[in-house]
Amino acid sequence: NFSYPLDIRRNDEIGQLSESFNLMQNQLKHNDLARKSFISNVSHDFQSPLMNIQGYADLLKADDLPDADRLAYTAIIDQEAKRLSSLTRQLLLLTSLDQGAYPMKAEEFALDEQLKGAVRKYRWRLEEEDINLSYHLAPTRFRGDAELLENVWENLLTNAIKYNKPGGSIEIGLHSDEESVQVSFKDTGVGISEEALGQLFDRFYRGDAARNTDGTGLGLSIVHQVVTLHHGKIDVKSKPGDGSEFIITLPLTDRIRN
Ligand code: ADP
Repeated sequence: NFSYPLDIRRNDEIGQLSESFNLMQNQLKHNDLARKSFISNVSHDFQSPLMNIQGYADLLKADDLPDADRLAYTAIIDQEAKRLSSLTRQLLLLTSLDQGAYPMKAEEFALDEQLKGAVRKYRWRLEEEDINLSYHLAPTRFRGDAELLENVWENLLTNAIKYNKPGGSIEIGLHSDEESVQVSFKDTGVGISEEALGQLFDRFYRGDAARNTDGTGLGLSIVHQVVTLHHGKIDVKSKPGDGSEFIITLPLTDRIRN
């Protein structure tokens, strides 16, 4: 019968073994806690849109409901259903990335065109929020999983919009050298505190600025996973109040040198 942590103070192999055993035990405890908090976060994130859908669907049943209210309630139901669907999609993607089960593709494509496509997709939001976007994109071929990377640019772009200020701006850059490509997203938004920088890529982490915006706190975890899968790295520079810059560096494979 053992009790943990093992208290074997010896300088030989048995001592080392018991020390690594204790470390493993701690790691398992930590994983278990992380798993429990993950489940409780997911449940909460599913619960609130579901409650809203149920609540407004009930209100819609009233016979004498004015048309304006009917439209407003339907719009809320629609928006909450979309939130659920995006949450499910992000969770499924993260889970399969975590399990190493994602069938990663390696296809060659024009990275500059892909970035332009992401900008086109969110043009309406830029206009709606009065944000000025400019880009300098060097023509660049890249070999990787195009669909996963599209996810990365969309997450970084929508964050740069969401956490910006009205009338603010965004700059996207794409450069490459012999070894790697660099993609940067620079915004003039609320910025990120020193403390928040350390938690940015944690699952479900949402900063203070996120309180009134749509989101799941999963976007940057996905960005991190996808960049890691491509053996790349992420640098974040930020000045609270002034804006942030996310710089993604992806190594070029031997087959592609621009
Ligand atoms: P979400 O946007 O759904 O909250 P993310 O994982 O994409 O989740 O981002 C985590 C948090 O990081 C956000 O809640 C926000 O506080 C902070 N953040 C991300 N991008 C930016 C940015 N460009 N400027 C300021 N804060 C940001």
